[in-house]
Amino acid sequence: MTDPNKNSEKAAESSASTNFIRYIIDADLKAGKNDGRVHTRFPPEPNGYLHIGHAKSICLNFGLARDYNGLCNLRFDDTDPSKESIEYVDSIKADVRWLGFDWQDREYYASDYFEQLFEYAVQLIKAGKAYVDSLSADEIREYRGTLTTPGKNSPYRERSIEENLDLFERMRAGEFKDGEHVLRAKIDMASPNIIMRDPTLYRIKHVAHYRTGKMWCIYPMYDFTHCLSDSIEGITHSNCTLEFEPNRELYDWVLDNLDVFHPQQIEFARLNLSFTVLSKRKLIRLVEEGHVESWDDPRMPTISGLRRRGYTPASIRNFCDRIGVAKADSMVDMALLEYCVREDLNKTAPRFMGVLRPLKVVIDNYPADREEELEAINNPEDPSAGTRMVPFSRELYIERDDFMEDPPKKFFRLAPGREVRLRYAYFITCVDVVKDPASGEITELHCTYDPATRGGDAPDGRRVKGTLHWVSAKHAVNARVRLYNALFTKENPNEVEEGKDFTAYLNPDSVEVLNNCKLEPALAALAPGGNCQFERLGYFCMDAKKASPESPLFSRTVTLRDTWAKILKAQKKNNR
Ligand code: ATP
Ligand code: MG
Repeated sequence: MTDPNKNSEKAAESSASTNFIRYIIDADLKAGKNDGRVHTRFPPEPNGYLHIGHAKSICLNFGLARDYNGLCNLRFDDTDPSKESIEYVDSIKADVRWLGFDWQDREYYASDYFEQLFEYAVQLIKAGKAYVDSLSADEIREYRGTLTTPGKNSPYRERSIEENLDLFERMRAGEFKDGEHVLRAKIDMASPNIIMRDPTLYRIKHVAHYRTGKMWCIYPMYDFTHCLSDSIEGITHSNCTLEFEPNRELYDWVLDNLDVFHPQQIEFARLNLSFTVLSKRKLIRLVEEGHVESWDDPRMPTISGLRRRGYTPASIRNFCDRIGVAKADSMVDMALLEYCVREDLNKTAPRFMGVLRPLKVVIDNYPADREEELEAINNPEDPSAGTRMVPFSRELYIERDDFMEDPPKKFFRLAPGREVRLRYAYFITCVDVVKDPASGEITELHCTYDPATRGGDAPDGRRVKGTLHWVSAKHAVNARVRLYNALFTKENPNEVEEGKDFTAYLNPDSVEVLNNCKLEPALAALAPGGNCQFERLGYFCMDAKKASPESPLFSRTVTLRDTWAKILKAQKKNNR
């Protein structure tokens, strides 16, 4: 078995371009902050599979640690037991590793801090900074006020410290039902920042946790957990996405009101990618409602989907490097992601010939009992990849759309009476077209070949305009091939029209399955998950999940057409 991925599997060592977070860290180091330590974390909630947006955060956080000789923790932010599972934990670990990053022994779980977090909450109560509220969820919402009107104090806000401690202990002991009480920070119900209007720190939830089981029936909220988890782990720079900017005031408030180490929260823009969605909530729906096969469906923007589609870790890291890290939200063109994988596979993927929609060609003057092997180049970009032998015989397949009976002017491929080159083989000339008398469909072409053109060049210097790929019929491997288009028909499916749901923009033609493809025999040796190029057709990947030796299945990773180069050209022109 060949492993075509081996060249792209180098450790993640790209030197990332600079960004505003690096400037902040440079200044901190210069000022001697944190004793010169840089310690980041990637903090996923295990409530879904990771997507390409998470890859941005992973590359950022692990990249900073790498470049500043620091550390990066993997921390599961698992405080909502109703949505979390070990399946998600395992998939997240596999994906981070596959991307080329290593958290060594620093695998942490917010749920491991539950006892400590409870103690911190008790400290806040003792300091008069937190209280048990017994309003209902609806009442709490009502009392909170709006963007334009201040909130009002809960009638329970002035409970005594003793009463609060007693109630909070009894909440933990399971004496109350869900929603009967919550623990709230006592901050300011008139704060212009609504998040600061006595935010909830703990809620009662009689739900078993995938790690702590039934040990707890109260669970800490994100805003209370995250800052303290960062603090416990000695995180210096806590990078999160822009939507948490209003939460920073609370992040700082909690840490300022306890005697603990105080990390710095820094917000950066989340990745948005055209023609797809990057929200776990939406991705879960695609899976659960059966719009896609699974989390790792090759159309999904998940790391596992991209992997199955044939994306390499290097291509995703390069993509994250190219998009950079900024303060303002933007939409990144899918064509850039495709450009990155094309660039990587161009260097590493072995070339083969495969015919997706076969049309039979009979070479009339080639002896029926003869066959020969012709030398083909494995990768023109990498001479060390060498050559291979491709079998040739009297009956071949070519691509159906490489022939036209009545070709327009600019069609240079095969047509009646016309001579073209078969790649690495011979010049052939079409002499006859056979059709199904009933349907009129072309079933077979008859051609003659010129034995003097072996290898694909004419000794008399005559030229042909078309070069076609082909596969010898009797040597061909039968295969299924899936071709993909964008999952959505709308550039930004998050912007929905009134009364519609983002699923209204799903592309009904996002996958095309071809069941009768003919591949050159060398492809049978490709390992599951292996990348390759089918000449002229694109980069493909042997499906790692559903392919078997009897029934190979390939996914097209990306076509050979570089739409990104076109976009850049057009932008340049517009800027002029
Ligand atoms: P989603 O909106 O997909 O559910 P999330 O933020 O709820 O994402 P988490 O598991 O909490 O998912 O995310 C872990 C980390 O990845 C967080 O630091 C989060 O800010 C970051 N992250 C999530 N989505 C993106 C994105 N699109 N671009 C950049 N970073 C992201
Ligand atoms: Mg989140």
